[in-house]
Amino acid sequence: MTDTLMPFDDVLAAFDPALGLEVHVELNTASKMFCGCPAVFGGEPNAGVCPTCLGLPGAMPVVNGKAVESAIRIGLALNCDIAEWCRFARKNYFYPDMPKNFQTSQYDEPICFDGWMDVDVDGETYRVEIERAHMEEDTGKSLHVGGATGRIHGADYSLVDYNRAGIPLIEIVTRPITGAGEKAPEVAKAYVAQLRELIVALGVSEARMDQGNLRADVNLSLAPKGSGVLGTRTETKNVNSFRSVERAVRYEMQRHAAILSGGGTILQETRHWHEDTGITTSGREKSDAEDYRYFPEPDLVPVAPSREWVDELRGTLPENPTVRRSRLQAEWGFSDLEMRDTVGAGALGLVEETIAEGAAPQAARKWWLGELARRSNEDGVDLVDLPITPAQVARIQALVDDRTVNDKLARQVFEGVLAGEGSPDEVVAARGLAVVSDDGALGAAVDTAIAANPDVADKIREGKVAAAGALIGAVMKEMRGQADAGRVRELILEKLA
Ligand SMILES: [Zn+2]
Repeated sequence: MTDTLMPFDDVLAAFDPALGLEVHVELNTASKMFCGCPAVFGGEPNAGVCPTCLGLPGAMPVVNGKAVESAIRIGLALNCDIAEWCRFARKNYFYPDMPKNFQTSQYDEPICFDGWMDVDVDGETYRVEIERAHMEEDTGKSLHVGGATGRIHGADYSLVDYNRAGIPLIEIVTRPITGAGEKAPEVAKAYVAQLRELIVALGVSEARMDQGNLRADVNLSLAPKGSGVLGTRTETKNVNSFRSVERAVRYEMQRHAAILSGGGTILQETRHWHEDTGITTSGREKSDAEDYRYFPEPDLVPVAPSREWVDELRGTLPENPTVRRSRLQAEWGFSDLEMRDTVGAGALGLVEETIAEGAAPQAARKWWLGELARRSNEDGVDLVDLPITPAQVARIQALVDDRTVNDKLARQVFEGVLAGEGSPDEVVAARGLAVVSDDGALGAAVDTAIAANPDVADKIREGKVAAAGALIGAVMKEMRGQADAGRVRELILEKLA
């Protein structure tokens, strides 16, 4: 079944979009939220479990203090109020990957609430209001075996791995974001990208979207233009890259608009995002007030962070993102447009790390926004998920700077590193990419070029130095682009002097 979509411009002529984003951040604490098991997902299935995270009768949970600290720091960085006193709550529902049959979460008493984050898109600032950031635990993971799709339908049997059950999560929920209009898809993407940047700066999570450390659910509704009334929303689950956040918003806007303008109604439901086809499909119907029978968790004491502690944690926050961007722009000497493009591409942190590894600011920007942005578009992955590190980018630039390779050869080094052929130096060696600047080899190639182009050689002898370009080109061709062009020019002029 294919959805009917309305052209994006037509959507904007008739409707105002409202966004809502729910982002789950998996904390990088050493142990789980309520027990001492290692908070490491993966490895031998069901090896990192104990009676508490398996929900066995009589097992008692204890709150992980480090996770509370991370939650407060995230809340402070998002300009939230921090609760003086709050409780955990049981969210009751049955699911095979949830051994207790309830998830320990927070309900009406989140630890952080009423915050905001300013998001920059194309030089404009959108204030995203944060409703809450609360603590909860992750579930286990089901594996459906035997089917073609990995989904439960068509599978022969299912396995459950509880290693992830109980890993601490912070769920950050925005208030409805209205007024973004045509920029709604970009605002959604920029919010998640900037939130990730903040989480990385706080050092509280690995924050890899492709690894599921950071998971975004995207809510979208449309209101008839100018009405100010929020429409029925859909919630697209677990969108796992910045790029997909933008695409999912755009897709849902176009799908909603086609249904509404055809006289239909939007079903309030969760949707699944399909990375490969770029569409969403129906998940399950969801009412506004699902009855999870929340009640305060009786086995855990309330969390009551002292104001002294909160103030102390405030002192550990990283630089405010807006201040940081202005500082970096000044340090790097970027124009407003260069800075905007860098932020927009989600490359700010990558460029910063590349510069810290020794590359010049313009060189770092050039590679991330040029060669690597092109690759990330072609491969449909975010820049940060490309298999290359800022240190490797800086190393390739160092090879250009010391004239081991030229710009053109450097592109082949990038290609090799991205293809998993090893470090930049290993790729240069294995592919034989180093520029030849040895006079013996260059001299022979220059002689050949002169012999093959006597008329050009005559012009140079007569003083038309500009003609040397044709000979340099011939030498480069002969040496498959690996000649040191500067030295070749010198040799040509010496020989024809
Ligand atoms: Zn455990």
